[in-house]
Amino acid sequence: MINHTQLTIHEAHKLLFSKQVSSVELTRSYLERIRKVEPQVHALVTVIEEQALQQAQQSDARIASGDINPLTGIPMIIKDNMCTKGVRTTCSSKMLANFVPPYDANVVTKLNAAGAVIMGKANMDEFAMGSSTENSALFVTHNPWDLDRVPGGSSGGSAVSVAAGEAAGALGSDTGGSIRQPASFCSVVGLKPTYGLVSRYGLVAFASSLDQIGPLTRDVTDCALLLNAIAGHDYRDSTSVPYPVPDYSACLGAGIKGMRIGIPKEYFVAGMQPEVAAAMKTAIAQLETLGAKIDWDVSLPSTPHALAVYYIIAPSEASANLARYDGVKYGYSHKEGANMWEDMEKTRQFGFGPEVKRRIMLGTYALSAGYYDAYYLKAQKVRTLIRREFDAAFEKYDALVTPTSPTVPFKIGEKAADPIQMYLSDVCTLPINIAGVPAISIPAGFANGLPVGMQIIGKHFAEETLFRVAYAYEQATEWHKRAAKI
Ligand code: GLN
Repeated sequence: MINHTQLTIHEAHKLLFSKQVSSVELTRSYLERIRKVEPQVHALVTVIEEQALQQAQQSDARIASGDINPLTGIPMIIKDNMCTKGVRTTCSSKMLANFVPPYDANVVTKLNAAGAVIMGKANMDEFAMGSSTENSALFVTHNPWDLDRVPGGSSGGSAVSVAAGEAAGALGSDTGGSIRQPASFCSVVGLKPTYGLVSRYGLVAFASSLDQIGPLTRDVTDCALLLNAIAGHDYRDSTSVPYPVPDYSACLGAGIKGMRIGIPKEYFVAGMQPEVAAAMKTAIAQLETLGAKIDWDVSLPSTPHALAVYYIIAPSEASANLARYDGVKYGYSHKEGANMWEDMEKTRQFGFGPEVKRRIMLGTYALSAGYYDAYYLKAQKVRTLIRREFDAAFEKYDALVTPTSPTVPFKIGEKAADPIQMYLSDVCTLPINIAGVPAISIPAGFANGLPVGMQIIGKHFAEETLFRVAYAYEQATEWHKRAAKI
C-alpha cells in the first residue's frame, strides 16, 4: 500500500490524474498524519479540516471533468503570515491572535485557482523575526529529525509540515533566510525567488524591500511546479515585476555541463561547523563530477558587512510597517487605559513579544533624526556595494554555491538568550535578500545525523539556472529521499 503522505507533488499528481487516488482520500491521509505527528512537532497554528475536505471534493469534480493542472487536489500548508479569507492569520503573534482577514493573499488566490487544497496555517517566529520558530508567541515547533532541536525559522512550521509528511508542499516567506535556513534544517527544498517575482499582496509585511514568498517542497521538481503556480506580475504589489514567467519545469533536465560555478570564500565563515564545511566540499565535488567548472577562489569582499546592513535595514522597515498595530483598526486592542495614548501603549506592550519590540526599537533608533545618516543611509550605501559585487560575480559565473547555514539544527533553547548568536544563523542567507537575487536550498547531506543544506544563488530572474543545478545534484544523490523517522 502506498503511503500517500510520503509522495512528492508530482507523484501524487500522477495518481490523481490516473484516478488511482482521489483528492479527498489524499487529504484525509494528510489530516490523519497531522493528528498523529502534530503532538510531537507542533508545526501548525490552524487546521481547517472541513474546508480542506470541501476543497478536495471540488478538486475531484474538477479532475473528473478533465480540468487538471499539477497542483489540482494537492494538500498544502501556508505560513501564517499570508492572509487567508475567513481563516485566522496570526503571524504567531498575540497582536493578531484573533485576526481573520477579509481577503486572500495573491499567492493563496493563485493556489485556490489551481485547485490546491489548503489544509491550514503554519507556525512561525512572531512577524517572521527569528531563525528558530522559538519566537512564536504561541508555541515552539520541533524538528522532526531530532525533536529536541529547532526546525529553523522563521518558516519553521512550513518546513516541518513538509518534512514530517503533514503536507505535500508549503509556502514560506524569506526576508533574510526564513525559507532557506529551515529548509536546510529540515532537509527539504526551499526557494527564495528574485525580489519582485512573486506578489507580496496579502503577505503581512516585515521588511518590505527584502520580503519574498516562496515554496518549500520534498524535491526540486515540486519546487518548480509550485513556483510556476505563484510567480507573476500583480498590479496590487507595485514591486512585483512584469516579467514573463517561463515554465520552470521545462528546464530541469538540461544538465550542468560546462556551467561556471563560483564558491565565494567569505561564506565559509569562522564558526562554521567543520562537518558542515566538509559536507559542502563533497557536494561541490559532486557538481564538478556532473560537468560544472568550479572556481574555488571567488571573493565577495563586502559579505562580512551584510549582517550589520540587514540588522539596520530590516528593523528600520519593520518599525515603520509595525506602526499600524495601534489597537484601533484591527488586531489586539487594550481598552482599559485612561486615554487613547495609554491604550495604544498598552496594546503594543502586551501585543508584541520581546524580539519584535527589540526590532522596533533598533529600527526607530536607526531612522531617528541625527542617526539616520550614520545608520540607515550608510546601510543603504553598503547594500548597493553588496548588490554590485553580486552583479560583477554573475558576469563570470552562472551560479554561486555556499552552505545554507553555518551549522546543523541547534538545540531548543541553545541560542534563545543570545540574539547575536541567533542572528549569525543567517550569515549565509542574508546577503541574498540584500541583493534581491534568487537562491535555493537543497538537501546536501547529513552531519552527525542532522541535515545540511546547500545554497545555490543566481542572478536576478535566473531561477531556471538554480533549478538546473539543483535538479542535476538531486538526481545524482539520495539525500532528498531520506525521510525523518517520526
Ligand atoms: N532570521 C532573520 C531575522 O530574524 C530572517 C528572518 C526572515 O527571513 N523572515 O530577521
